[in-house]
Amino acid sequence: MKRLRTGDQNLVKQINKSIVFNTIKKKGPLSRAQVSKKTGLNKATVSTMVSELINEAFIHEIGAGKSSGGRKPVMLYFNHRAGYAVGIDVGVNYILGVLTDLSGNVIEKTASPLRNIDIDYVVGQIFSCIETLVNNVPNSPYGIVGVGIGVPGQVGQDDQILFAPNLKWRNIHLKQMVEKKFLIPAKIGNEANAGAYGEQLYGAGKNISNLVYVSIGIGIGTGIFINNRLYKGATGISGEMGHFTIDFNGKKCSCGNRGCWELYASESALLQEASQQKLLNENDESNLDFLFREAQKGNSQVLKLLNILGENIGFGLINIMNTFNPETIIIGNRIARFKNWIKKPIERILEERLPVYHQSNTDIRFSMLGDDSTALGAASFAISSFFLNRKITDRLESIS
Ligand SMILES: [Zn+2]
Repeated sequence: MKRLRTGDQNLVKQINKSIVFNTIKKKGPLSRAQVSKKTGLNKATVSTMVSELINEAFIHEIGAGKSSGGRKPVMLYFNHRAGYAVGIDVGVNYILGVLTDLSGNVIEKTASPLRNIDIDYVVGQIFSCIETLVNNVPNSPYGIVGVGIGVPGQVGQDDQILFAPNLKWRNIHLKQMVEKKFLIPAKIGNEANAGAYGEQLYGAGKNISNLVYVSIGIGIGTGIFINNRLYKGATGISGEMGHFTIDFNGKKCSCGNRGCWELYASESALLQEASQQKLLNENDESNLDFLFREAQKGNSQVLKLLNILGENIGFGLINIMNTFNPETIIIGNRIARFKNWIKKPIERILEERLPVYHQSNTDIRFSMLGDDSTALGAASFAISSFFLNRKITDRLESIS
């Protein structure tokens, strides 16, 4: 029989431990015998892995009591309060932070507007957001396991922010700044990737392996799941579909291109049109809320703008569907709150312009986590990275 090398044995152990951990996390409470049955691992292996996980406080056992029909088995639970994570969504005009347990349940939430995009000011706001959340953390074995931050821009493989057009930032080492200040591991990710991750774990994309999450805020970004994995491209910067051209002679964009999709189909496109039509005061942070209330009241001028916005979103979605043929497209971020008014025009454009074999196959949904998708996804990046550093992967598909 071929003997495994030491390295291989370590890997096998990590895989077994991850399988046991994920089975209990997703399907618990389970007895050791049930874990063995569900995973196909023998009882001795399950026992060893469970003991390690109990020592590490990730699993706890309950119910060693007696019953009339014999001994009740001890049941194993995922200890989702073994630690906590902070997730932050840095919008262009807002910052939103959540404190979650290890299952992504939100314990605390804080949001504030961003008054400008100056890096020192924004970093100051990020720090005070983290401080507020960290001060509210309950007692636990691991405390804060990490901080995840979603930013609207391209993030390289070493977590460096390469370029964030709407913030006008280039080459920012936010990870190092946060780690130096708080002595907590930090993960930086693109906001749409984080949103896709959040929705795929906890929201409208649960159990869907091929999806595109379209984050429509001040700009547009997308997060792409292919075969259950977040697709990040060769250097981590895929998904900038807000900058594909829908009008090649169109308006100039801050990315250097012309006629980018986000210039016509984003929150800023809506706000710009609305202020040109004298519906808004300029630079009032509550403008989007105002338009939402007016839409609810049936203001025909606002409804007309939302109809055009929906159509413009539809034009971009056609390109996404033609490219990826996803099972589901999820529209998220701040524009998702207008779903009652943009859904129909989106569907109309798809019906008119999409090859017929696409129409019945792709499900267009709106985010289930509302404004929290990115912050929750960012917290989950931090949680996954914490487990990975402890040689446990909480997303089994990333082992192979
Ligand atoms: Zn652009």
